[in-house]
Amino acid sequence: MDIQVIGVRNLPLIQRGDDLPALICEQIAFEDGDILTVASSVYSKAKGFTRELASIVPGADAVRIAAKTKEDPRFVQAVLDSSAEILLEYPFILSEVPSGHVGVRAGVDHSNVEDGRIIILPPDPMRAAAEVRDAIRRITGKDVRVIITDTCGRAFRRGQTGIAIGWAGMTAIDDYRGDTDLFGHVLEITEEAVVDEIAAFANFVMGESHQGVPAVVFRNCRAWKGHDQVYFTPKEDIIRAALKENKKD
Ligand code: GDP
Ligand code: MN
Ligand code: MN
Repeated sequence: MDIQVIGVRNLPLIQRGDDLPALICEQIAFEDGDILTVASSVYSKAKGFTRELASIVPGADAVRIAAKTKEDPRFVQAVLDSSAEILLEYPFILSEVPSGHVGVRAGVDHSNVEDGRIIILPPDPMRAAAEVRDAIRRITGKDVRVIITDTCGRAFRRGQTGIAIGWAGMTAIDDYRGDTDLFGHVLEITEEAVVDEIAAFANFVMGESHQGVPAVVFRNCRAWKGHDQVYFTPKEDIIRAALKENKKD
């Protein structure tokens, strides 16, 4: 059967304490095997992973970096607080967050939230995905797969795309190694980052501004086998190594 893509409409502006899975279940009749993608921004708003700029006191590093990036030092402090390791300070902060994801400004957002508030990424996005999956099973009895997404810039290319920051009920990677192509050649290196491919299309359906579609359901997607090691180890990560080398100069 062909894949069906269903944007979840008619959701309210999400507030801290809202039961997001329950609100989504009011809009969608889930089927076993559905893949539910949820924007990290709404998950964070529901869970209270937001901060008041007025309550943040920037430290010396935040003030120093903010002078270069021309950003609010309190916003920069929030980015530093969300970061496990800073890879680049200027022209934008690029950092790794505790989950292993590397993103611009540690994924801290000031869009789709009230003035003076910022949204931070869910600190444990894998757990977030598992929790949404469990909640949907509890409410509907259906076994769905869940991806938590964020909009992210990319190396080498202009333009942002959606990526997966957490997932449950599937592996991140569809591992083709050992499989044979149309001509019988054994594939040696192909590991497809399926969660990111789905997140990217979900992000397209969601849009980035006032569309109000923070969740998208994919129906009739095949299952796959693979693993979750989507982040390079420090040894494998040649871009990170180059950034570090550059920092020393
Ligand atoms: P991010 O990619 O996770 O940072 O989230 P975005 O801010 O880009 O929002 C993704 C989608 O969710 C867009 O369609 C937004 O309009 C929508 N959205 C964001 N917050 C809310 C909300 O509180 N309620 C509803 N209904 N939609 C929202
Ligand atoms: Mn975001
Ligand atoms: Mn987005």
